[in-house]
Amino acid sequence: MTLDVSTLLVINAANLLLMASTLPIIMGRRLSPAAASARAALIVHAMGWIAIILSSLWKDQWPDLVLSTLSMTCTGVSQALLFRALQGWLGPRRGQRLLWALVVLTPLGYALSFQSYPIRVGWANLLVALELLVVCQATLRPTTRKVGNWRWVVFACTLVMAGFTAARGVMGFFFTELYPTFRTPHPVNVLALLATNITLVMGNLAVLVAWREEAEAQLREQAFTDHLTGLHNRHGWEERAPGLFAQAERHGTPLALLMLDLDHFKRINDLHGHDVGDAVLRMFGGVLRDNRRSSDLVARIGGEEFVLLLPHTDHAAAVKLERRLRRALENACVQQPLLSVDFSAGLALLRPDDATLTQLMVRADNGLYQAKSLGRGRLCALD
Ligand code: GH3
Ligand code: MG
Ligand code: MG
Repeated sequence: MTLDVSTLLVINAANLLLMASTLPIIMGRRLSPAAASARAALIVHAMGWIAIILSSLWKDQWPDLVLSTLSMTCTGVSQALLFRALQGWLGPRRGQRLLWALVVLTPLGYALSFQSYPIRVGWANLLVALELLVVCQATLRPTTRKVGNWRWVVFACTLVMAGFTAARGVMGFFFTELYPTFRTPHPVNVLALLATNITLVMGNLAVLVAWREEAEAQLREQAFTDHLTGLHNRHGWEERAPGLFAQAERHGTPLALLMLDLDHFKRINDLHGHDVGDAVLRMFGGVLRDNRRSSDLVARIGGEEFVLLLPHTDHAAAVKLERRLRRALENACVQQPLLSVDFSAGLALLRPDDATLTQLMVRADNGLYQAKSLGRGRLCALD
């Protein structure tokens, strides 16, 4: 069996074109910035391939120069777009500036050295290989959240293509007779084109899985979020609170739990309507959000019941926070008198004999009950 270069080139271009035109249809319009970047990367990559194939059809120098320089630009831009997608999916990555410098320098050096085949082919391939390596290393760095195995597929694809591209550069520059044209049937070139095909398919599968993973994470986050206040809902509380409780227990660090309930909230609904009641809940949610630390867990676990789990917080610090919340709520109510409201609070602190989070919650709830019976608008602590 002989694999001929022209057929491989056409198959690669056809594959890319098909994928680039199908993805916008199946992915739809409402995409996250990361998914949109990955899709744009594929489309720009396809444009690069079309340009390079067209460039080799021309005998004149100018169309060849313009089209092949355009192709180098498209290749670089598609790598930069893929890098952006990785940043969206994996978190901040290093190498962005270097990548953009390579995206500019590759076509520039290629066009300027166009008269010399060895220099332009050596330059362009070695710099594109570097672009691929920048993307490749971006898959390796630690991520803030759990990421699926798709990133190892992107790692392998970019590494393999960096290897083949560098090999083409070395051949073009040092052994020009082995690689005299883009269509030369040298085994390295044939293997490089085969690898292009395989990595295109694998890379795009990886992108689709990354996109699905992102959509799943968004759905999970939505399921844990209270849509009225933007805080965690009961489901989110049940998912996250036990982890903070276990951590405090294991390390013997202080942990405070504040249970808050709006006072006479039913009256607000009855007097001003449900919409005003909702606005009060949103305002109170905003007060809680603005005054918490990033390590605190804040959730709306019932209609007008809120709970705050405060790691590394002792009695004095929890009381201070409760006062701050009360002041912030007073200020917010001065600005919007219609939404005026107060709250009662129960505080409990982790004890060495607490075996479950529920015990802590029951004590905070008892404190809250006491605060209500003592006339509301106050804090009662049972620790
Ligand atoms: P207390 O001071 O004893 O806590 O009195 P309260 O009126 O706040 O407590 P009660 O439990 O009697 O009433 C809570 C009200 O909260 C009843 C319910 O209609 C209202 N509520 C629950 N969820 C929502 C919501 O999402 N929006 C609005 N507007 N009201 C809600
Ligand atoms: Mg209430
Ligand atoms: Mg209540």
